[in-house]
Amino acid sequence: MKSYDLIIVGGCSAGIVAAINAKRQNSDLKIAVLEKLPRIGKKLLATGNGKCNLTNQNALDHNYVGGEFAAFALQKYNPQTVTEFFASLGLLCYADSCGRVYPESNTASSVVDALRFELDRLKIDVYCDTQITDIKKKNGFLLNGDFQCKKLIIAAGGKSSPSQGSDGSGYALAKMLGHSITRLYPALVPLCASPEITKPMKGVRVRNVNLTLKGERKIAQTSGEILFTDYGISGIAAMELAAHAQKYIDNVKHNPFTYIDFMPQMSFNELFEYLKNLNKIKGFCQIDNLLTGFLPKAVGIAICKATKLYKADKNISELSERDLRAIAEKIKNFPLEITGTKGFINAQVTSGGIKTEEIDPETMQSNICKGLYFAGEIIDVDGGCGGFNLQWAWASGMLAGELNEV
Ligand SMILES: Cc1cc2nc3c(=O)[nH]c(=O)nc-3n(C[C@H](O)[C@H](O)[C@H](O)COP(=O)(O)OP(=O)(O)OC[C@H]3O[C@@H](n4cnc5c(N)ncnc54)[C@H](O)[C@@H]3O)c2cc1C
Repeated sequence: MKSYDLIIVGGCSAGIVAAINAKRQNSDLKIAVLEKLPRIGKKLLATGNGKCNLTNQNALDHNYVGGEFAAFALQKYNPQTVTEFFASLGLLCYADSCGRVYPESNTASSVVDALRFELDRLKIDVYCDTQITDIKKKNGFLLNGDFQCKKLIIAAGGKSSPSQGSDGSGYALAKMLGHSITRLYPALVPLCASPEITKPMKGVRVRNVNLTLKGERKIAQTSGEILFTDYGISGIAAMELAAHAQKYIDNVKHNPFTYIDFMPQMSFNELFEYLKNLNKIKGFCQIDNLLTGFLPKAVGIAICKATKLYKADKNISELSERDLRAIAEKIKNFPLEITGTKGFINAQVTSGGIKTEEIDPETMQSNICKGLYFAGEIIDVDGGCGGFNLQWAWASGMLAGELNEV
């Protein structure tokens, strides 16, 4: 039997910083991190396209589902504190113009290395290839009949991107200790949407669109880049709608639509005037070229096709004002039916998790089981793209590592 003061289940973002903070606050503690994969921090290596967007300078509670619960942790361990924490590990960071923070090295492995070296320096035991499947509350906690600890932090992640370890097994552990889990949805994942329309635009990116998700009424709105694929749409703006869309499909049993505004910087009337002017400038060109002044050609063709005006050999000068009005309408309001998402396997984040009412927001300690703490994505808190989810993992992990009692 291996005995510890504190054991952390899950050796990635939240779990590692929880261990480091606990040891920094009380060097007498005997601490172990238990990780099911052969190495710690595997998911971190994949973050930010391998660059690790480790926080966002603008992260505030209103950026999160579950933000009210997360507010205390996010204030105490705010992006500035998190950046200072990484500086204390020798890792320097920079922020881009949107406040997204990356390591100066632009490589996620620098972040994992910095954390790994600190675990070593602090003499925290790390057990890899160690999947916890059973927890009993017995003189503290007994894990797999092998490990004993006085205090336990579960930081096993959600069920998104299971190839990086987070297969949802943490929820089963939480349930063994009396906790309940909300309904789970894949979040930050591409959308399956009208493939017959998107397939001809496969691989085309559009930089600055507004997306509005609607059922009977408006559900959510995002803006930013989208990428057309053979199954639907990807890109940050589309991915940020995923959890909303999946919730709607599951609950209402009906497919919502997303409406793309390809020209949010122009009003309908401005756009209509612009199109009328184009008619003068390049009236002799074929309709395929109508929108190439501000959109990729394939997108322009899809828009014209959606108005049912499309004929490849038609010249722009043949378009009436009514036709141009119909095209302007589709540029501002291009509909795609959302039939689902690419699921947990491809999702960056899980929306839903351990019910926040069952956890004390100022300590991360369970309100149900004394000595038990949670951190990171396993809790029902999630944010958008841009460093928000790692910010939550660090903040909740560091707070849990304080091991304060309720
Ligand atoms: C491709 C991708 C890119 C992303 N990019 C970004 C980004 O740039 N910025 C950002 O903010 N967020 C990003 N995210 C989200 C972010 O990585 C997660 O929100 C964050 O890692 C969650 O941290 P966590 O420690 O709570 O969970 P995880 O990172 O999922 O870690 C949980 C750990 O627990 C282990 N584990 C699970 N079950 C058990 C068990 N039973 N026993 C032992 N160990 C177990 C897992 O193997 C894993 O190592 C990205 C996610 C993905 C998938």
